[in-house]
Amino acid sequence: MVIGVPKEIKNNENRVALTPAGVQELVKFNHTLYVQSTAGIGSGFSDDEYRAAGAEILPTIEDVYGIADMIMKVKEPIAPEYGLIRENQLLFTYFHFASSRELTEAMIERRAVCLAYETVEKADRSLPLLIPMSEVAGRMAIQEGAKYLEKPLKGRGILLGGVPGVPPAKVLILGGGVVGTQAAKMAAGLGAQVTILDVSLPRLRYLSDIMPANVITRMSNDYTIRELVKDHDLIVGAVLIPGAKAPNLITRDMLKTMRPGTVLVDVAVDQGGCIETCKPTTHENPTYIIDDVVHYCVANMPGAVPYTSTQALTNATLPYALQLANKGWQQACQDSAELRLGLNVVQGEVVYQGVSDAFNLPY
Ligand code: NAD
Repeated sequence: MVIGVPKEIKNNENRVALTPAGVQELVKFNHTLYVQSTAGIGSGFSDDEYRAAGAEILPTIEDVYGIADMIMKVKEPIAPEYGLIRENQLLFTYFHFASSRELTEAMIERRAVCLAYETVEKADRSLPLLIPMSEVAGRMAIQEGAKYLEKPLKGRGILLGGVPGVPPAKVLILGGGVVGTQAAKMAAGLGAQVTILDVSLPRLRYLSDIMPANVITRMSNDYTIRELVKDHDLIVGAVLIPGAKAPNLITRDMLKTMRPGTVLVDVAVDQGGCIETCKPTTHENPTYIIDDVVHYCVANMPGAVPYTSTQALTNATLPYALQLANKGWQQACQDSAELRLGLNVVQGEVVYQGVSDAFNLPY
């Protein structure tokens, strides 16, 4: 198969869909790899390293889209890329369709085959291509939250771990999945007092077993959230309903009950956010303030640590890319229920229920 890796053009996105190691693996199976010039530079990989691994370097994004049967990317295509996508071309990348009608309609119109990383799903319901980025984002949520709690950045001016004789900050985590677990570990490691909320009792039992003593678990419901937001310093949104818009757990009216300088990090922003006042921001301009509450809603958090993220992502995507390249998408999706669930929009039709529900589109 002819595989193309374009350079990411979304604001501040420095990741790339394949490392030279991934290229070498695909070339070993006789696939032809085209990488756009400087695509890997932001993650620390030069064109020469891709060449040495067996790829050909193409000068422009048009060249890559024009020649490849399968495009491997990191983020969803954005408007300037829509016109480059060809009928029947396989796009293997993150899409997060449920949060963008524009993108969904554009991909329907292009009649491409859109296989979304985020909905590839194993039999145990885990999402193997979301996990590595969730691990990165969960850990980053605390790093960023700690920074924006500083007074010059408009936060409350509280140190997460406190110091001897002064109490630590209180961190509230909505959702105890991958993001929530990594965030809780980081916050607990820094000495904060952490509460994790989830709707799954088995998950809360598990977390209660493995977390240190400064982490407690609570059942997630509107009553408890309303109570807890009043005295927590850093609140991390980390819920997920696969393939669907995140529920608004923190509503606009709750902001007035929070203390000035409280920091909200809504990691779930890429699924529409679990905080009503959340709107997507960028690494260049990551925060905004409503009712004295700092909102951090960067939709591509792992993009800020591309060296770590690119390797974590390609470790997870490569086995699936190999199946798609070796068998073609139809056969690979027939053989693998995991990959089949990744299909969201195929040749003009929505084939994933969460996407059709989000926009009331035929399915
Ligand atoms: P996950 O499936 O591992 O965890 C989600 C958890 O939310 C589950 O434990 C689930 O039980 C819980 N949940 C569902 N409804 C809830 C509710 N009402 N109250 C409390 N908990 C609830 O998902 P994840 O991998 O941790 O991802 C979380 C979110 O972070 C997703 O939206 C994902 O797309 C997003 N994400 C964003 C970035 C970014 O850069 N902004 C990066 C990675 C992941």
